[in-house]
Amino acid sequence: MQINPNFSRLKESYLFSQVRERTAAYQKAHPEARLITLSIGDVTLPLGASVVAAMHGAADEMAKRETFKGYGPDRYCYGYESLLNALQARYARLGVSLKKEEIFVSDGAKSDCGNLSDLFSAENIALIPDPVYPAYYDANVMAGRKVVFARASAENGFLPMPQEGVRADLVYLCSPNNPTGAAYSKAQLQEWVDYANRTGALILYDAAYEAFVRDKELARSVYQTEGAKECAIEICSFSKTAGFTGVRCGYTVVPEALVRGGARLNRLWKRRQNTKFNGVSYITQTGAAAAFSEEGERDIAERLTYYRENADMISDCLRRLGIPFTGGKNSPYLWVRCPEGESSWDFFERMLSKANVVVMPGSGFGESGEGYFRITAFGRHGDTREACERMEKLLKKG
Ligand code: PLP
Repeated sequence: MQINPNFSRLKESYLFSQVRERTAAYQKAHPEARLITLSIGDVTLPLGASVVAAMHGAADEMAKRETFKGYGPDRYCYGYESLLNALQARYARLGVSLKKEEIFVSDGAKSDCGNLSDLFSAENIALIPDPVYPAYYDANVMAGRKVVFARASAENGFLPMPQEGVRADLVYLCSPNNPTGAAYSKAQLQEWVDYANRTGALILYDAAYEAFVRDKELARSVYQTEGAKECAIEICSFSKTAGFTGVRCGYTVVPEALVRGGARLNRLWKRRQNTKFNGVSYITQTGAAAAFSEEGERDIAERLTYYRENADMISDCLRRLGIPFTGGKNSPYLWVRCPEGESSWDFFERMLSKANVVVMPGSGFGESGEGYFRITAFGRHGDTREACERMEKLLKKG
């Protein structure tokens, strides 16, 4: 018996586990320390009341013979119409018209970021931004694919653009980006879409943080550009807006017009899901649909405001310290230069041991992340304020 040899090409553990382990080891050695965690991008505010009420209602339906639901509807690959109608309406508000058959309800963006890899041969080359959410790289390495990088740096505003002459079949884009917080404008995204249509590449567009976009010229969806339905799949999530990190629900758009290698990817994805996935629970989908009700949207707006207040607090603190950073305006993440040329992990250790604040080492998101760290705005106000005070005390010069 042989295991998949590609696993030996991966790092020993996933970045987030590594940070958790080091933090736990520090806490064990210093039980008195009150650590503040602004590293892992999990939300802290609970589900909105309308979502909870809808989920209670759905649970009651499941308790009655007349309204009980088993497997989800086959027609839409287990997506319920109420949620698909709400998602169609969301896209319509962005000027994008989608059929229900083009929207696949998922158990979150991470699964699909990895699972979509099933559709493509190991011979394809994946182009992955550096730095970025590590799941894209790991999933492609597991699949035995060669990976090339689109480097993001202060010089290109952390927004790499297409480079002629670099062969790429699968192009991963994440906007607003995790970890840098940089987001593509519609015009910049149009360049990527034109590139993909010209070269035959496929764009896998991760829009998990689209709701954080404030500036009008920035894209909320790849389909806000011309020709994207012929070259792009979009992956999105309820995790960071409706607080579904523990509930688990997302959606992936695979347009019917999307053809690669002579195959309709919409049909292929449906075939793949029918074989390896059995849908998201009725209770969860009912809760997700309620996030689009008037009350649900109000709850989400409140949550966004709360997290943005954290981002503003951290931004003000960094400005006072004179430390360069990006993000925080159209994203829940702030991407910060480590002071005094420190490495990402050295700075992580210093913040942990001297300020008892846990940040995310930038190098964990890719080579180009070395010398940076990421702070999340998903914490509680009190913790964020205190973390800023501790950071200021530690890093203030003179
Ligand atoms: N995509 C990006 C860029 C993320 O940062 C995350 C989570 O942090 C995910 C996807 C995963 O989202 P989900 O909770 O929907 O699986």
